[in-house]
Amino acid sequence: MGNAHNSKVAALESFLKDHPYIKFITSSSPDYISLRAVFSLDSTATPLAIVRPQSASDVALLVSYAKSNGIKFVIRTGGHNIFGLSIVEGALTIDMRDISYVNIDKQSSTARIGGGILEGELVEQLAKEGLATPTASVGSIGHVGWATYGGYGLFRSNFGLGVDQIVAAKIADAKGAIFEADERLLRSIRGAGGIFGVIVELTIKVYPLKAILAGSLFYDSRDLNAIFRSFNVGYQALSAKGVPPQLTLNQVLVNTPHGRTFGVIFIWSSEDEATGRHWLKKVEALGTVVMNMVAMTSIPDWIRGAARFTPTGFHGEGRTRNIRQMTAEVTDIIARSFEKMPTDPGSMFAIHDMRGAALNSDIGSVFGTRDPHFLLEILGGAVVKENREQALDWSTSLWQDFKHIESGNLLPSTYISLEPPDQTPGDPLSKIFGSNDQEVRNLKGEYDPEDVFDLALPKLKNYL
Ligand SMILES: Cc1cc2nc3c(=O)[nH]c(=O)nc-3n(C[C@H](O)[C@H](O)[C@H](O)COP(=O)(O)OP(=O)(O)OC[C@H]3O[C@@H](n4cnc5c(N)ncnc54)[C@H](O)[C@@H]3O)c2cc1C
Repeated sequence: MGNAHNSKVAALESFLKDHPYIKFITSSSPDYISLRAVFSLDSTATPLAIVRPQSASDVALLVSYAKSNGIKFVIRTGGHNIFGLSIVEGALTIDMRDISYVNIDKQSSTARIGGGILEGELVEQLAKEGLATPTASVGSIGHVGWATYGGYGLFRSNFGLGVDQIVAAKIADAKGAIFEADERLLRSIRGAGGIFGVIVELTIKVYPLKAILAGSLFYDSRDLNAIFRSFNVGYQALSAKGVPPQLTLNQVLVNTPHGRTFGVIFIWSSEDEATGRHWLKKVEALGTVVMNMVAMTSIPDWIRGAARFTPTGFHGEGRTRNIRQMTAEVTDIIARSFEKMPTDPGSMFAIHDMRGAALNSDIGSVFGTRDPHFLLEILGGAVVKENREQALDWSTSLWQDFKHIESGNLLPSTYISLEPPDQTPGDPLSKIFGSNDQEVRNLKGEYDPEDVFDLALPKLKNYL
């Protein structure tokens, strides 16, 4: 560490003596390693320091201090940015995780939640009151980071995306002011997240839901190619007749002790178990089931159980494509790639279909992709570092294979949370925000003209 670094750390430490509630952690602190940990195991950056504000005014104070002292800073919550972008070399990490309250208002079916709450804590607090809200299925993901960029969750066809649940937001801006976003700003926060300021609080919709019928269903995958194709033919036939919104299915290909295995995550977001089981039978009939873990469960229990299938971190990157239809051409490309998917448990593939309430949001947002589509989540990850390049070769090659598919079937849009940002310099911002791109730029100019939040995603200067 150079002298400039050390003197910035010393000055910050001395400043924080007057604000003892803000926790201050440096690389020599005993809990540094656990607090710095993020999902991307490729991330080796050393932050200037880590600070943990306890309230919105602490956040505002830190933003003002950083700005006036020329200190770059980055906001982190769950640390699940798949590219490790929530830790930046030499930048101050503002770790929001202590701001994690949940205040429920049953009258309006909403909850005010702290900007640093993790999904696992959120579902736990809501469940105590018999309530639920769309979240990611990984309990250690931060809710703000998941929901404000889109939020493809497991109740999406029933209740909509994460962005669709946001009814109010409080932000700490570049001047260190704290205020409620007006409807115009709120529209852009729903899709563009923290580029205008730190989101210190969200008010989100909540729904009465005590239990769900949920779990993984794995099919005989000895002939991966065949099961994947026949499943999709069958699922399309089911969809043509109409699948109820309570049912959300994520197709997955994962490495299990029995090898690469194709299955679905089945979520029936209703307490009507009998109808859920009726639909479960239909989904079971789409292949030969070899393992069925679907059961009535509470949402916190389901999230805890799902953690068994997701690594806590990996080397590598994500990739994504948005496809309109699962045509034979598309299933061919994916099925061929399955046989090449590395056997490292960090390599995975999932398909999130966007239908039902996720398409019909009447809440204003700049989220760019409301056409019916299938989001392909290609995780070129490796738990074992030596497998990293092989995993990336596989994910990149699958991603490339979609470049030349039948025109019109590949949507031009992308999902910022899963697409490598360094692939996009100069790319049109409309890939993320569709026709709302100029609206996002305009608001950025109004709320953060000096680009104080330049390390927040998406980094707008990449799109000039
Ligand atoms: C294993 C895994 C599974 C995933 N599954 C899904 C999925 O099913 N569906 C889906 O939609 N996405 C999924 N994602 C993507 C994930 O939702 C995003 O990466 C999300 O942004 C992570 O949020 P975080 O707080 O955990 O991450 P962090 O790395 O802490 O933050 C990510 C970004 O959010 C910003 N941010 C976080 N909190 C705040 C705040 N309070 N104020 C302002 N800005 C903030 C940060 O600036 C940062 O740029 C997955 C990612 C992983 C690694």
